[in-house]
Amino acid sequence: MYAKASALSRYNENLMPRLLEGKSALVLGVANRWSLAYAIAQAFIREGAELTLTYQGERQKQTVEDLAAELKAHQAIGCDVTQDDQLTALTNALKQQGTVLNAVVHSIAFANREDLSRPFVETSRSGYALAQDVSAYSLVAVARAVAPVMTSGGSLTTLTYLGSNRVIPNYNVMGVAKAALESTVRYLASELGPKQVRVNAISAGPVKTASARGIKDFSSILDFVAQRAPLRRNTDPLEVADTAVFLASRLGRGVTGNILYVDSGFQIMGL
Ligand code: NAP
Repeated sequence: MYAKASALSRYNENLMPRLLEGKSALVLGVANRWSLAYAIAQAFIREGAELTLTYQGERQKQTVEDLAAELKAHQAIGCDVTQDDQLTALTNALKQQGTVLNAVVHSIAFANREDLSRPFVETSRSGYALAQDVSAYSLVAVARAVAPVMTSGGSLTTLTYLGSNRVIPNYNVMGVAKAALESTVRYLASELGPKQVRVNAISAGPVKTASARGIKDFSSILDFVAQRAPLRRNTDPLEVADTAVFLASRLGRGVTGNILYVDSGFQIMGL
C-alpha cells in the first residue's frame, strides 16, 4: 500500500509542471550555504527558473561563483547594493544579455556588530545610517535598477523580521531598519503595481545564518521560539524558500504589499 502511494506521488511529481519554468530570476544575498538566499536559489532552480546570483565584492566572488556553478545557476554578477555604479552595471549587464526578469529576491542586511549588542540608546549616527542604507534603502535602489528589465511585470521579494514591530533583545538598530524596509515594501508595491510588479516581504522566524550570528545571544532567541511558537519548532529555510517560490510564481499573482510570516506562527503569541 505504502509502495503504491509513494509510486503515485513520484508519478504526480513528474507530471506536475514546475512553478517557475520559463521564468528568469535574480537573487541577491547568497553568502554561503546557510544563507536564506541560498535556500531560495535552490528552490528557484528546482522549480525551473533561470537564475542570476550576485555577490557583494571580490572577497565573496569565488565562493558565490562556486555556489552558482553547484546550483546550476546561469551566472553570478558583482553588486554591492550601496554603490550606485554597481547597480547601474548590473542593469546594463542584464539589458545587454536581453534578460527580462520575472522575479527578484532581495535578501540583504547589515549593521555594525556593536550595534547588535550594546544598548540601543548608544547607537551611533553612522551605525544607524549604515543599517538603513544597506538593509532598507537598498530595496529602493534595487527596485530602480531592475525596473528596466522587468518589462513584463513580476515579483520583488525581500526578507524581514518580527523585530520591525516588536522589541527583540539586541536586534536594536536592525529592528528600526526592518520597520523602514516594510514601509518601503508598501510604497514600492503601490507605485509598481500598475506595471504588474508585485512587492512583498517574507518575515522569517530566526534561522542560524552568518548575519544572525552577529546578534548577541541569538541562540536564546532560537530556544525561546522553539518553546513558544504554535508549531513548537524553529523555521526551516526551505519553508522560507517555498514561500518565495509561491510569491514569484503565478500562484502569488494577487499578492502585493504584504508581509508574509513564515515563523512557525510565533508572531501571533502574546505570552
Ligand atoms: P546572510 O547569509 O549573512 O545574508 C546576508 C547577505 O547580505 C549576505 O550575502 C551579505 O553579503 C549581503 N550583504 C550585506 N551587505 C551587502 C551589500 N552592501 N551589498 C550586497 N550584499 C550585501 O544572512 P541571512 O540571515 O540569510 O540574511 C538574509 C536576509 O534575511 C536579511 O535581510 C536578514 O535580515 C533576513 N532575515 C534573517 C533572519 C535570520 O534569522 N537569519 C530572519 C528574518 C529575516 P556578504 O556576506 O558578502 O557581506
